[in-house]
Amino acid sequence: MTRDWKTAPMVIIEAAACPVCFALKPIIVRTEQGGDGSSSRRCVCRECSAHFLLVIEPPVPNSGSV
Ligand SMILES: [Zn+2]
Repeated sequence: MTRDWKTAPMVIIEAAACPVCFALKPIIVRTEQGGDGSSSRRCVCRECSAHFLLVIEPPVPNSGSV
């Protein structure tokens, strides 16, 4: 399988940023588990008090390991 990783977009989720003021380390109010393995976190920005949802996708299993 060939993929062009040079053009793949980079997604960094180590530090969630506020979509309004881009402040890091929001307050996580609540974490909810989704039925498909994902989880969503309700976050509140420490700087501007914006509310937003942070969705964590489930880890993709390696091919061959079921
Ligand atoms: Zn903010």
